[in-house]
Amino acid sequence: MNMDVGNLEAPVFRPPSEWDSLLIKVTNGCTHRCTFCSMYLTKKFSMRKDIEDIKNDIRKAREMFGSRVEKIFFEDGNAFVVKSHVLIELTRYCYQQHPNLRKVSSYAHVQDILKKSDDDLKRLADAGFTMVYVGIESGDNQVLKDCNKGATQDDYALAAQKCHQAGIDWSGIFLLGLAGNDPEKSQRHAVESAKLINRMAPPMPRKWYISPLTLEMTPGSEILAQNLKNKFQPCTSTQILEELYTLIKNTDDDLTGCIFNTNHASNYLSLKGELGKDKRDFLHRVEAGIKDPSVRRPEYMRGL
Ligand code: SF4
Repeated sequence: MNMDVGNLEAPVFRPPSEWDSLLIKVTNGCTHRCTFCSMYLTKKFSMRKDIEDIKNDIRKAREMFGSRVEKIFFEDGNAFVVKSHVLIELTRYCYQQHPNLRKVSSYAHVQDILKKSDDDLKRLADAGFTMVYVGIESGDNQVLKDCNKGATQDDYALAAQKCHQAGIDWSGIFLLGLAGNDPEKSQRHAVESAKLINRMAPPMPRKWYISPLTLEMTPGSEILAQNLKNKFQPCTSTQILEELYTLIKNTDDDLTGCIFNTNHASNYLSLKGELGKDKRDFLHRVEAGIKDPSVRRPEYMRGL
C-alpha cells in the first residue's frame, strides 16, 4: 500500500522493508553524487525549511489513514542530514499523531551520523527514531574513494558503534561488483568489506542488519559513462558470487545478531539468515551458485 500525503516528487525510493511505511517528505534528493547512483540525478537537493509544514503533513496523514500507520520513513535520499533537534521534534510529533506507530527511519549518509553527538543520537533514539539505512557499499577505502562516497572504513565502523550505543538500529548496504572485474580489486573489496562488518559488530546483544546488493550500471550514472569509455568493466555473475563467498568467509564466526539478507532483486542468489549462526550454510549455497549457473537468478529477473 502506498501511504503519503501527495507531495512527494518522483522518483521516490525507499528500502524494500519500508514498503508499507507512511512516507513523509523532509528533504528532496540527496546531498551526494556517488558514481554508481542515478536515483536522484533529476533532483536538486533541498531541505524543507518550515517544520510546521512537515508537521501538517504528519497530521494530514492521520486524517487520511486513521490509526493504520505503524511505520514512518522520512524521505528523501538523505533525510538524516537535517539537524538533530528538528528530527527529534518531528519524530516525537509522529508518535503523538499516530498511536500505533512503532518505527521511524530514514536513509543516512555516514558523515551526517558522525556529525551528530552521542547525546543527540541518544535523544533521537529516545524520541523513537528507530533505524538508519546506510549505503556503505564497500570496506575498501580505494573503492570508496573511486565511487566518490565521501567516507572511509573507519567512518563506518565508528558510526555503527555510535548508533549501537545510542540504541538506533543499524542497517548497512554493501554493493557487490563495485570494484569492477579486476580479480585482485574485486577480492580486496570483499575482504575489506568483511573486515568492516566485523568492526561494526555491536559489543552488546543487539540486532543489526547487513544487505549486499549487486551493482547495476543504470542510465545516467557516472559508472556507466566510465564503462562506455572502457574505464570500468563490470564483474561477471560468477565473480559477483565469488565476492559474496569471500565476504561471508572472512566475517568472524562468532558474530551475533547480524541479520544478513541478499533478497534484493539485483542479486543472483537470495540468502536470509544470521551471519555467524548461518555462515556455513550461506557458504555452501554460494559455492553451489558459483559451480552451477542454473541456480542463479536469471538476468531478466534482476532489477533495482
Ligand atoms: S548512493 Fe546514496 S549517498 Fe550516494 S548519491 Fe545515491 S542516494 Fe546519495
